[in-house]
Amino acid sequence: MDSYKIAAKLLQGARHAIAFTGAGISTESNIPDFRGTQGLWKRFDPRMASRGYFLEDPNGFWQFYAKRYEYIVGAEPNAAHKALSLLEEEGIIKSVITQNIDRLHSKAGSKSVLEVHGDIMMSRCDCCGEQVPTVECIKFYRDSGSAPTCGKCQGGLRPSIVLFEEPPDLIEAAFNIAHRSDLCLSVGSSLCVYPAAMVPEIVKRRGGHLIIINYDPTPLDGIADIVIREKASAALEAILKEFDGR
Ligand code: NAD
Repeated sequence: MDSYKIAAKLLQGARHAIAFTGAGISTESNIPDFRGTQGLWKRFDPRMASRGYFLEDPNGFWQFYAKRYEYIVGAEPNAAHKALSLLEEEGIIKSVITQNIDRLHSKAGSKSVLEVHGDIMMSRCDCCGEQVPTVECIKFYRDSGSAPTCGKCQGGLRPSIVLFEEPPDLIEAAFNIAHRSDLCLSVGSSLCVYPAAMVPEIVKRRGGHLIIINYDPTPLDGIADIVIREKASAALEAILKEFDGR
């Protein structure tokens, strides 16, 4: 049996399947990933996404996030996001746990989405927590050339995302879902950013199945039931075609 057939069978037989996604699912929506062949870390220093850099050089930090915001703001979900939404509609996938900050799963129609690294469309004051739409921060940065500050307390504004050196707030919720799940379908993630990458590992170590769809090898390939090195949209569409009754 080929990988797509086996993947479809495992998904159909699962009691509680989840999807775990990374930046690779959004490259077909023209949002670059980090570690892929055209990834952002080939052009930028990963430190630019850290808390240390935000505190040290807020202007440089906003220059980097204005660029990332530009990629994300006009992006539309692609066939891979839509396939996961369809799998949820059909009752097969119960939740999507995503490391992405681009809202594309919700835009594609997925209802149960946990964004463990936050959402770039909103920003907040690093001191008092005041919430501000990121579009206003970008406008301020572009007009003045300097980092936006809070209208209430003058603290530094930053996107409501998890920066390197910060703990992901929603990770416990993601782990709880993983503990209840018997299959994890990982799509477009290098599976090397922890603690998020523990999600597929937990499902597998508790006796569930792990299906990985990713161009490049990942550290969890060795424990996966199936590894598919194919474009995310093509792989998910091929799996959907294998479902009974199609
Ligand atoms: P990643 O870039 O590490 O991995 C993406 C993977 O997807 C690559 O291995 C690539 O081969 C694969 N890929 C690319 N396009 C594909 C396609 N169309 N089909 C199949 N595979 C494809 O991204 P990641 O796994 O999401 O891990 C990094 C995480 O770390 C990010 O999701 C992010 O949340 C977090 N992070 C956060 C920041 C920040 O700004 N706070 C910065 C860097 C990383």
